[in-house]
Amino acid sequence: MPRKPPFEHACHRCGTAIRADEPPDGTNSFCPTCLDQNLREVERWFLEDYVYFGAKARSTSAAVYLTLFKSTDDVRVRKFAGLSIYEQFMFATEDLAMLYFALRDCDRRSVLDTFLGFEVNPATSNQWQDELQANDDEVLERLGLVKEGVPVGWIETIEPAQAIDALRKAVGDMRAAAHHRTVAGGVMVKSFNKLKHGFLAAARGDFVMPATAKREEWVTTLMVNRQLGRLVYGQIEVTEAKLNEFVGTIESAAAVSAMLILAYLRSTGWTPSSGAPSPN
Ligand SMILES: [Zn+2]
Repeated sequence: MPRKPPFEHACHRCGTAIRADEPPDGTNSFCPTCLDQNLREVERWFLEDYVYFGAKARSTSAAVYLTLFKSTDDVRVRKFAGLSIYEQFMFATEDLAMLYFALRDCDRRSVLDTFLGFEVNPATSNQWQDELQANDDEVLERLGLVKEGVPVGWIETIEPAQAIDALRKAVGDMRAAAHHRTVAGGVMVKSFNKLKHGFLAAARGDFVMPATAKREEWVTTLMVNRQLGRLVYGQIEVTEAKLNEFVGTIESAAAVSAMLILAYLRSTGWTPSSGAPSPN
């Protein structure tokens, strides 16, 4: 039987009893229904901010690491900066997955509620990729952003024809992100997860497998396949050209997030006001 938390609170709005591990401290508490209502009230303000702050976090970090990479000839620092850019890329794909599920489920729970509780795992990555197999407009309808081929809520500032093209392109970018997460058994995610809980990467050139590789331009991540009893090396290319490409992809992901959130806000009847966020 689940343990019963020791303290009783009352919902500040409807009076429903709530049990919690912390004793009442004079601050208002709310039951799940009233909390959902509160989150829905806050989410518009949060999402307006997210468009030009949270959604850009990965591209901002990636740009900092790219500057670091270009600023030095120290091979280890360059390898660190390069790996960090790939890590930001993986985070950017997680952000997009979170946004997809938040929009898909927004009738059942607020977008902010999904954001606050979201944790990506291999099952959600695979489900995300499966659901993106549908055609662009089906996906957009599922997200509540398009109805019968027409974007919901869009008016004057962007012509509907351009809006639908941009939304379809956003689905294509999401599909590419989902593919990166799941390709080859999710090797990229597994590899970069090894950096989250202990930086399991090696800068030494003799960890590089290809004999022809320029060793200063590759860094190795370490994983283990226990079933086969093998140490598995991930080879990551850290050249300026490759990193520029990934920084560009991260910037696109930020733009896609911003654009989908604006589309969602539009679909709820929101219109840009003075000082309105811009996806740029
Ligand atoms: Zn309540």
